[in-house]
Amino acid sequence: MRRRVVIGNWKMHGSRESISELLAGIDSSCLDPAIEIAVCPTSLHIAEVVEQLSKSSNNSGIAVGAQNVCDAESGAFTGEVAAQMLAEYGVRYALVGHSERRELYGESDQLVAVKAAAAIGAGLTPVVCLGETLVQRQEGKTEFVVLRQLDAVVQKIGIEGIEKCIVAYEPVWAIGTGETATPAQAQEVHAALRVRLHQLDAGLAQTTPILYGGSVKASNAAELFAQPDIDGGLVGGASLKAEEFNAICASA
Ligand code: PEP
Repeated sequence: MRRRVVIGNWKMHGSRESISELLAGIDSSCLDPAIEIAVCPTSLHIAEVVEQLSKSSNNSGIAVGAQNVCDAESGAFTGEVAAQMLAEYGVRYALVGHSERRELYGESDQLVAVKAAAAIGAGLTPVVCLGETLVQRQEGKTEFVVLRQLDAVVQKIGIEGIEKCIVAYEPVWAIGTGETATPAQAQEVHAALRVRLHQLDAGLAQTTPILYGGSVKASNAAELFAQPDIDGGLVGGASLKAEEFNAICASA
């Protein structure tokens, strides 16, 4: 059976106080421990979140992820954080290729692939984000775009590398907009990604979790996660509300 995974992407939100309150409200104690749950705070908040979770009786099983990672190991890269530094602070996952990084910071498929390699090099699990824009969908290019994005990562890290990744399908038009892909729309793309993984290696298709992201909330999570190729969610806005996030994790 494939792993079930829910990851909260807090983006650039929160203060020390609000994050502490949010963590106190998240409760994973009743969930199947086999479900992997992680939260991704800003780099600045990572150390504190790792510490608070390690002391929590309700949430010690929740892992911490980074929202981004540098493609280089170390050196003169002002403002960047290396994968090894994240690992040293207890980080387990790293988002790579989030559409906000691709769109706002010009990250190419090739850079995303190098970032995935850097994360793996430090023992982190890359969460490789893929997704089409509204225009690309309207032009019928959804599959072409997400497979191109996936192939670029495969080319860099190979099948052995992809084995260490989680894939997240996040249609750009559904991120932060309140507009969710229908379960059927999401399943269609997840199935295409699963087929590509199968073409690479049958075992890879069976083991790689493919998460859906794009306005997942408590009210739509169960239906999305019930689709045969959706193994959980990458959750933005709703992960900032403890009750919503708890309910989404329970749906997984
Ligand atoms: C995200 O940022 O990865 C995301 C899916 O955001 P939201 O859930 O707010 O659409």
